[in-house]
Amino acid sequence: MTPSNLPVRLRLSSEALVANWRTMARASGNACAGAAIKANGYGLGARGVADQLAKAGCRDFFVAHWAEAAALTSVIPADQIYVLNGIGPQDVEIAKQIGAVPVLNSPEQVHLWKAAQGARCHVMLDSGINRLGIGLEQIASVDFTDMDVDIVMSHLASADENVPQNEQQLEIFLDGSVQISGRRRSFANSAGIQLGKSYHFELTRPGLALYGGVPRPDMKDVIVQVVFPQAEIMQIRNLPMGSKVGYNATYIAETEMTVATIAIGYADGYVRGLSNIGNCRLGDLVLPVIGRVSMDLVTIDVSKAPNLRPGDFVDVDFDLLRAANLSGLSQYELLTGLGQRANRQWV
Ligand SMILES: *Cc1c(COP(=O)(O)O)cnc(C)c1O
Repeated sequence: MTPSNLPVRLRLSSEALVANWRTMARASGNACAGAAIKANGYGLGARGVADQLAKAGCRDFFVAHWAEAAALTSVIPADQIYVLNGIGPQDVEIAKQIGAVPVLNSPEQVHLWKAAQGARCHVMLDSGINRLGIGLEQIASVDFTDMDVDIVMSHLASADENVPQNEQQLEIFLDGSVQISGRRRSFANSAGIQLGKSYHFELTRPGLALYGGVPRPDMKDVIVQVVFPQAEIMQIRNLPMGSKVGYNATYIAETEMTVATIAIGYADGYVRGLSNIGNCRLGDLVLPVIGRVSMDLVTIDVSKAPNLRPGDFVDVDFDLLRAANLSGLSQYELLTGLGQRANRQWV
């Protein structure tokens, strides 16, 4: 089996990816836009994403793990890859070998990097998400002298909402970042960019929006879809009225109808929450999902498309905002849940 005849295709639009990055870069004003490409580029494939964004001019890439950094050094220069999870004692040697840049998240990590005579580093401050980072109250006790600190950063907890926490975090970040002499500051993720100029600093770190996610409703019209799944028809059958479809018979045919079984399921990231509400398409024709989504299969109503045959492909609707609303999952989960057995094709 060659990739070209796998039954699930994820067509990934290069043009849309780059357009979204440029939109984020423009929205970042005088700041540069980097890119969060952790979790395998949010499920799309980090190498493809990094390669294309680098060609578009992106110079700052964020991953979570050292293994993710190592997998990218043949695509982008190691010194443009930043590892958000930082370093533990077991990581120091590998970090130096790979040459990617650690984001130091605690006084311990700063001491460790300093003791190892590590080169350039970044520093994460915790401004209120209480996840990773050095707390405001800890900064004074950390000795940054002789350290090559590039980016001092922090991460917003609720940038997708208009809540006082955003400004509270901004104030803490301003207060903390002046106490460390870094070259650049970075605060905003995709949603944070939309909060305005005072959140931009020198570098922004969009992730979700690059991949077609809509981080805030007010960004709906400027972000374009990147991931377009397609699935192959395995079998077509005519059903008499009253036929039951799928596990637990959650759909019962109200009339005679023609249905097709397509080779995509929740193992591919087509989540069960789209049972009986998702859609496929053939050109302008809408082909509704009927019954429950299975692991590898979905049944769709193709009564309106009598010419379809097994072996044909249909487009599977994957508008992230809509799919998230319908399924109850976040757009992040929908992207990172895209299955590994699909054929990812940049087009
Ligand atoms: C994932 C991540 C981002 C990107 O966030 P999006 O909401 O996807 O834009 C930025 N910064 C940090 C620290 C992250 O972990």
